[in-house]
Amino acid sequence: MSIRMNRSLLSVSLALVLGVGGCVRKPPPMTDTERPLTHDEEIAYLEEQGAEFDAEIERSGVVLADPVVQEYVDGIARRLRPEGVADDVFRIRVVRSPSLFGFALPHGSIYLSVGLLYAVRSEAELSQVMGHEMAHVVQRHSLAALRDRRAKGVAVQLTDMATLGIAGGVAQVSYLLSVTSYSRAAEAEADELGLRAVVGAGYDATAAVGFYETLRASALAEVNETGGAFATHPTLSARSENLEELLRAGEIESGRDARVGTAEQAAIHGRIAGEYLRLLYVYRLYERLSEETTALLERDGEDSTLLCARGDAWRGMAEDPEAVALERASRRAVAPTDEMIAEVRAKKDEFVASAVADYERCRELDRADPRAWRGIGMVAWSSGDADQARPALQQYLELEPWADDRRYIQSILAADGEGEQP
Ligand SMILES: [Zn+2]
Repeated sequence: MSIRMNRSLLSVSLALVLGVGGCVRKPPPMTDTERPLTHDEEIAYLEEQGAEFDAEIERSGVVLADPVVQEYVDGIARRLRPEGVADDVFRIRVVRSPSLFGFALPHGSIYLSVGLLYAVRSEAELSQVMGHEMAHVVQRHSLAALRDRRAKGVAVQLTDMATLGIAGGVAQVSYLLSVTSYSRAAEAEADELGLRAVVGAGYDATAAVGFYETLRASALAEVNETGGAFATHPTLSARSENLEELLRAGEIESGRDARVGTAEQAAIHGRIAGEYLRLLYVYRLYERLSEETTALLERDGEDSTLLCARGDAWRGMAEDPEAVALERASRRAVAPTDEMIAEVRAKKDEFVASAVADYERCRELDRADPRAWRGIGMVAWSSGDADQARPALQQYLELEPWADDRRYIQSILAADGEGEQP
């Protein structure tokens, strides 16, 4: 589905939902670019948009409801909060997206993705992201961005971005971030003020700046370097060099016992790993799922959960070449082509064999793992082998009677056919 189509559909539903309450001091619409807004109108507009965005996100159910993770990010926010800013200004929400992003809304809401929390190597790195976003809020960078968009006649409803950007999949995230991104000068200022706040809160400056390296090394590095999540105008390299220069010049110095928080972050990483892998599967990021599970298997050794998750990744790559082509294209920040789809399709047999190997190994390690049976059954069904598919799927439902996909599996079990021909 195209972004345009998503947007118009969403606008309709939002109009229905948001049109009800009615707002007393309604700022003129963004499309009315003729008349300049007064300062108060600008603030009112941004706050209203922010509140609507928050409400839409809450409604969409993408906020991660994990009290331990919430306390972790709230704790960092408490440490970072600048003097003179009320303690209820910043509201941190972790959203269930595998993409790597963090952004702030003008009225103080800060959104961090599960993908970000999974990628950072220390609490200090995460604090740099949060310090940066808080600086955008405190410096009111959104005002300049709002004026800029109006001057260009770009009417963007933040609310459009809520479900579209976060729940709408990876390809749309850069679209979301284009709305919450700022000028080169504002980004540089947020980087520096963020780092000052981070050091002021007792974090280690060098470890914090390591965040930019983590971003570069991440699976979405190419996209990030050319204009994705955190790199709008200045490239990541330029941004981290600026900060490293400040450290070298002694302009920003952390104390000798400054906090890095590697163990704290590792605990959070372990806590959200299952959710992160699940999200990669849900968002059909099969290639990344295969890479992440392979990395974890190499690090932690054989594990039935990881093997089954990787089996799902291979099966996704075998059955959904369009999704894999789209994933590869978005990582290179290009449009998917027919050649890319053909390239994936040509390796189908290889992917199927890898899936079967992982599922079978998973079953050997834990015969009570329902996903092994499901995976083996689904591979057989897709290849037209109903005789092999049915007993495995039957076993799956016996192990997991309340599975989400129970009705779908039952329909396969009840079908007369010989399985789906590939
Ligand atoms: Zn920024």
